[in-house]
Amino acid sequence: MIKIYLPFLLCLLQFNLGIAQPALPVPLNIRQAFDKGTRVATGEPGPHYWQNSADYSIKVNFDPATRLVSGSESIVYSNNSPDTLRQLLFKLYPNLYKKGAQRMMTILPEDVTDGVAVTNLVIDGHAPDNITGGRSRPANGTDMPVRIAALNPGQRIQISLDFAYTLNKTSHIRTGEVDSGAYFIAYFFPRIAVYDDIDGWNRNPYLGTQEFYNDFCHFSVAITLPGDYLAWGTGNLVNRQEVLTDKYNKRIDAANTGDATVTIIDTGDLALRDITRHADTLTWKFVADSVTDFVFAVSNHYIWKASSLVVDPATGRRTRVDAVFNPVHKDFYEVIDFARKTVQDMSYRFPAWPYPYPHETVFDGLDQMEYPMMVNDNPLDSRAESIELTDHEIFHTMFPFYMGVNETKYAWMDEGWATIGEWLISPMIDTSLVDEYGVDPYARGAGKENDLPIITPSTQEEGNDYYLNSYP
Ligand SMILES: [Zn+2]
Repeated sequence: MIKIYLPFLLCLLQFNLGIAQPALPVPLNIRQAFDKGTRVATGEPGPHYWQNSADYSIKVNFDPATRLVSGSESIVYSNNSPDTLRQLLFKLYPNLYKKGAQRMMTILPEDVTDGVAVTNLVIDGHAPDNITGGRSRPANGTDMPVRIAALNPGQRIQISLDFAYTLNKTSHIRTGEVDSGAYFIAYFFPRIAVYDDIDGWNRNPYLGTQEFYNDFCHFSVAITLPGDYLAWGTGNLVNRQEVLTDKYNKRIDAANTGDATVTIIDTGDLALRDITRHADTLTWKFVADSVTDFVFAVSNHYIWKASSLVVDPATGRRTRVDAVFNPVHKDFYEVIDFARKTVQDMSYRFPAWPYPYPHETVFDGLDQMEYPMMVNDNPLDSRAESIELTDHEIFHTMFPFYMGVNETKYAWMDEGWATIGEWLISPMIDTSLVDEYGVDPYARGAGKENDLPIITPSTQEEGNDYYLNSYP
């Protein structure tokens, strides 16, 4: 597929360079960014480019019996923009499940909640007196604007709050219960929206279809669980000696340093019940830097295979790849190989870019969704589909997570590149595979009314229009 199309595209490009073309129309908000020098037309950062950032310290408890997610967080938010901010916009993504919230997805009545309870909000030592949804955007959606005195350019602001909500049992939209002993917990903490040079605050609410746009941040997260549960998450597990017994720490050491696939936990180990330290509850501590999101998954009955490889020969740096799954899902026994090969091929063949993360964990869930260092993938019937899903989701490591693109507005950037990654890498994993994901649906839709200009904001698309523009 790409062997045909890529040279064709290059020919087109060379052809076009020789012909004077009228300037393409540039939207005003983009043109203003060129004028301010924050962006340039090549796509590179301009001389005045900036990003805001935050440092999140989160303590979260998860109770599988009630599915209550509750915790506290402190945030140090840095205003690197040239603007004085008089408002902070919080994103409360679990409010997708809140009664009365606007959404593009169907949620079963039993999964409709009261949303996220935010309590004890303190900003720079004061309880804000004005939490408002504004006149046009009701506060029961995923956006929570809070008025502040003034946050000047170059200043930081300190925020602390408590939060709680009930995780969905079904209606699994990228997060929720997988089964009665496994949970994928994403978008769980209140966070500050992106404020950028193009749009200011990102006021696109999360409606369930479009994906995410988040600042690069530092995360320090302590997750408290019942003592028989294990946690996998974005970032490095910095206290595994405190939560796992020596037998299993030694197996992780072997996986971290050797190329072989190591079975960290098998079904026999689960029966022995000797995996975690003996305690009613255990707290799992993760640290991640310069990532756009933090997510975790927990289980008391999954098995775990791991392997690592050198991703950067210049430094000898290794990435560990993990597959964590329900032992009844037979396709997952090979996912560790597919995932390892994807990380290897991304590092050495396409795009030949040393994999940036210390680990990549594929968790057996109910979705097909990517996060920094984590993937939530459903079991599949065919080996080909399993290869394609694994490499597609892991390819998202580059787009959007490394590049930091705005997935909410430009799904064609992250899904388009992940589709190209999938087309190229699937046949590297199995040379008999021809991956043409999305090609036939696009052929059926091409040139029709719903074949929108690719730059159409994803927030204006749904259904087949969204799919065709984003993926193939
Ligand atoms: Zn994707």
